[in-house]
Amino acid sequence: AVPVTVVSAIGAASRFGVVIKSGAAFERFGEIRHVALDKTGTLTRNRPAVTHVETVDGISEDQLLSWAAAVERGSVHPLAAAICAAAPGAARAEDIVETAGQGIGGLVGGARVAIGSPRRLDAGRLADRVESLEAEGATVVIVRRNGVSVGVIGIRDELRPESAEAVATLERTGIGVTMLTGDNARTARALGLEAGIEDVRAELRPQDKAEAIRQMSRSTPTAMIGDGINDAPALAAADLGIAMGATGSDAAIESADVAFTGRDLRLLPQAFAHTRRGRQIMN
Ligand code: ADP
Ligand code: MG
Repeated sequence: AVPVTVVSAIGAASRFGVVIKSGAAFERFGEIRHVALDKTGTLTRNRPAVTHVETVDGISEDQLLSWAAAVERGSVHPLAAAICAAAPGAARAEDIVETAGQGIGGLVGGARVAIGSPRRLDAGRLADRVESLEAEGATVVIVRRNGVSVGVIGIRDELRPESAEAVATLERTGIGVTMLTGDNARTARALGLEAGIEDVRAELRPQDKAEAIRQMSRSTPTAMIGDGINDAPALAAADLGIAMGATGSDAAIESADVAFTGRDLRLLPQAFAHTRRGRQIMN
């Protein structure tokens, strides 16, 4: 049975937005010495916006965006939200298939449209544009139509102002911080610099994130915090899995030991402090 003091501390945590699913999870907060954070939606605002569009063969920007948005209607990914917002009139594609951490495809007016990471899709004639947009700190996705690269879309997602404060508080209390992301290394490093995170691991697939967690956890008890469908394997691999934004993907919440109802990263140092006080009262 879970001690009554733990039950009441868990109840108090839920009132400030930290839902701890078990007494064991409550206790495990005390062992954690390292935290891995997903970038998109966890450190950043989760409000990415399209900032650049490049096309080939005189295809208009609006045309490219409407092909892409038709497919992205089938996704809950933050990049999909940005692309859909840039082309609100696009009708939903057929036969949509999304591959977590890679991209998405579907049939738009009989043509096969694929959108995804330049690490997975060939940029063709647009390769040099990918590099320069990434160097400016944008996340770039490639748009292919019937097997030909027809455009690139640059998307920016700003760091939340409270993220850097949360990272500094964690490090001050002896908890190491690593950023894990499927995004490209250039964009990731730029964001890490802003957030005060030196250890940045980029271009990871969902299974790579889980493997990175397992490796860290071998030497140091490690928590993982993330929000996406693609974060579920990493959350499950961590000593303590934390899902950010309880309105996010069900898979992430199910794989987690803890769920934050809000998206303020300062909840993380607050949760460590709260559970620490809870254990002191018991001892
Ligand atoms: P993060 O780790 O930053 O949350 P993800 O692992 O979700 O990123 O995705 C990694 C990369 O895969 C993205 O940067 C993007 O290039 C591509 N990607 C994933 N899902 C989509 C999608 N729905 N539309 C376009 N690109 C996507
Ligand atoms: Mg994510």
